[in-house]
Amino acid sequence: MNQRGRDALVAAALAGQRQIVGTMSDGHGGLCAMGVLAAAARVLDAKTGHRFAVVATLYDLNDALIYECAEAACRRWGPPVKMSEADLVVHLNDHHRWDFLTIARKLGPEV
Ligand SMILES: [Zn+2]
Repeated sequence: MNQRGRDALVAAALAGQRQIVGTMSDGHGGLCAMGVLAAAARVLDAKTGHRFAVVATLYDLNDALIYECAEAACRRWGPPVKMSEADLVVHLNDHHRWDFLTIARKLGPEV
């Protein structure tokens, strides 16, 4: 994730954006981390394929399946699952309930 993506997540946190899990937008103002990125890219309501393509390009989300979850709980039942960076954002938001700032801090440009 590039600095632009990180900035979007930090801005959402500072604005008190309500965070949800399991879906990008609940239609009542709640957004997951990917929803924040899509909203900042103005493609929240676009079709899924287009939305993910725009988000991945704008924020330099790597689609190589090389990312492992950092949470020890995910390694308890076997070797870590490899996923794309976008999948990891969704996983950390939904499965581990990482907040926007934690995702921004740990998936920043230097990772
Ligand atoms: Zn995990």
